Amino acid sequence: MGSESDPNGAANTAPASAADARTYAVPAEVIVHGAIILDGDPSSFSIERADQWIAMAGGMVTARGRGDEWMRLTTSVPTASARAVQSQTRVIDAGGAYLAPAFVDLHCHGAGGFSTEDGQTGPAEPGLTDTGSAEPGLEDTGSAEPGLEEMLEVHRRHGTRALALSYVSDTVTGLCDSLTVGAQWARENPAVLGLHAEGPFLSPRFPGAHSPAVLTPPTAEAVAAIIAAADGTLAQITLAPELPGALDAIRTFTSAGVAVAIGHTSATYEQTARAFDAGASILTHTFNAMPRIHHREPGPILAAVDAGHVTLELINDGVHVSTPAARMITNLAPGRISLITDAMAATGMVDGQYTLGSLPVRVENSEARVLESDGSAGAIAGSTLTLDDAVRRAVTKVGMSPLEAVRAASLVPLRALGLIGEDEHCLLGIGMPAEYVLLDAEMNLLTSAGERNMAR
Ligand SMILES: [Zn+2]
Repeated sequence: MGSESDPNGAANTAPASAADARTYAVPAEVIVHGAIILDGDPSSFSIERADQWIAMAGGMVTARGRGDEWMRLTTSVPTASARAVQSQTRVIDAGGAYLAPAFVDLHCHGAGGFSTEDGQTGPAEPGLTDTGSAEPGLEDTGSAEPGLEEMLEVHRRHGTRALALSYVSDTVTGLCDSLTVGAQWARENPAVLGLHAEGPFLSPRFPGAHSPAVLTPPTAEAVAAIIAAADGTLAQITLAPELPGALDAIRTFTSAGVAVAIGHTSATYEQTARAFDAGASILTHTFNAMPRIHHREPGPILAAVDAGHVTLELINDGVHVSTPAARMITNLAPGRISLITDAMAATGMVDGQYTLGSLPVRVENSEARVLESDGSAGAIAGSTLTLDDAVRRAVTKVGMSPLEAVRAASLVPLRALGLIGEDEHCLLGIGMPAEYVLLDAEMNLLTSAGERNMAR
């Protein structure tokens, strides 16, 4: 993997033909060839040979094709200035690997010791019980970015180029303070797609790892305060539709451009269906923190399956959802599954004790659970999953096709946030960002996310 050849090797011996001339203008800092590109409309997609190539420059895709045509981009150099550009070209033989759009995570709380709620307190130390709970202002160095950068870097190493920063439930005031900090991060960092408030309008019957003390029904004032605090960067909010005022809240959030997700809910099928009719469009971590499917009480999961516009999040780590259940839901809602991590601070760290919001969490064998006051392990508290593992499991265990699995970790989440159109199937087209990963035949990640890591 990653073998390089001299892009000018044939330039001196092969005179440019007229047919080559049209390719001169295509800048190509990086060319990856010998790949199977997992990008495009599934209805017309087929894997024939690993002979596809893609050229990139300035962070954008500049050309894409099949066969040996890529050689024209590097072997025909008419002018000295063009030669100077072309001599910079890195040519990478993918050796038959899959080339896919880099991943996008719709639901992510942290990594590398950092939680989104850390705000100005900066990154947490591993192994401490009070990580992330330092009072804001006490050690405000004015630079929260290093913690965020560390978090993004952990996920980047696992193929994720962009994510929504998720916040666990807090008081409305506390959440608004966190969102104000997050809004600045979202504006400054293109890897932050937006903010995701997971609560506090959640069911006390299904709190999961959220502190029950702060859960509350939505009021018009609280909804307005949250929208204002996020200042245009709130991408998603999770709420329980059976709470008083929830339908009004759904309408207000959706008209403000916020995707509403249903989750941490005791809602019936009918209540959930009404929420989806009112504009809700995502089911938060399907199966987790909601009533299970019963043949006489189908519940929120089948309401999501029946509402064709709804995206179903799935924590595909084999712990949150069993493999047969994951297989069932991917078959019930093809093209609408969004693989998420729900990752918390311990992701990319050693086992130990961390916090999620205000709750202590113990991570053992990479499994995060709330630490009860008697020292026992409580509810599952987020995950330490990364999207490359989720994608690999989706193919090797659950049975999704490679294209489907990659779309569930890139195109589907972008669509769920309204960042690409319903009819668009391509993320690596000409003029699009050159953010991609390489995966081997068993779907193991061979590169980090992003073109800049490509030439390793
Ligand atoms: Zn949750």
